[in-house]
Amino acid sequence: MIDFHCHLDLYPKPANLIAEVAKRGTYVLAVTTTPKAFDGNLRFVGANSRIRVAVGLHPELVKDRHHEVSLLCATLSRTRYVGEVGLDGSPEHRSTLDLQREVLRGILAACKSQGGRIISLHSRMAARQVLEELEAAGAVGTPVLHWFSGSQSELRLAIDLDCWFSVGPAMLASVNGRRLASLMPRDRILPETDGPFGELDGHPLNPWDSERVLPILSGLWQVPEQVIAQTLKANLRRLVS
Ligand code: MN
Repeated sequence: MIDFHCHLDLYPKPANLIAEVAKRGTYVLAVTTTPKAFDGNLRFVGANSRIRVAVGLHPELVKDRHHEVSLLCATLSRTRYVGEVGLDGSPEHRSTLDLQREVLRGILAACKSQGGRIISLHSRMAARQVLEELEAAGAVGTPVLHWFSGSQSELRLAIDLDCWFSVGPAMLASVNGRRLASLMPRDRILPETDGPFGELDGHPLNPWDSERVLPILSGLWQVPEQVIAQTLKANLRRLVS
């Protein structure tokens, strides 16, 4: 299975989790919330080639850590993956939106100047703004909108901008999440958990729990689970090739 957006370093015992991920053969994109965590993640991931580490600066941390954008950009030469980055327009973080936007612009411009990156993007209550930044920035690589929760017209705009989407069990637990997923291009979807933040029934999701999207997507698309699993794997292969 694949978990294309997971905070491996924020679980209580990352080493145990990584051992289990290796045993199960799970493909993981380990996103980071600050670029300072990038090297530590590389160290504990070690030789596991199924885990890739993304360099990120979470929009919720931009208020205190915006100066780390230069470290993020300097780290781009060492990874094809960027995340978690984006904008958060929820009431708690709305006041820093201007600063968040400035940081995101810098990151997207750096991705573009380095030939493009695969970018895992947060867009909670700021879908429109994130899409505007992507459109203005141009060829930044491949944006992957994680846990997308915009409107249907925003989804159409995202599709027109060639965005990909990562969807998880927590997102698909809501009616709106399932409706959006049913409208996403099937050849641009990857599973995720957003663990340990992503939860189901009050428990943090583990990376391999991303397989819980299979029965849900199977119901939405009226396609057998094995076919969905093959599609998701083919999508990953195409994205990274
Ligand atoms: Mn996240």
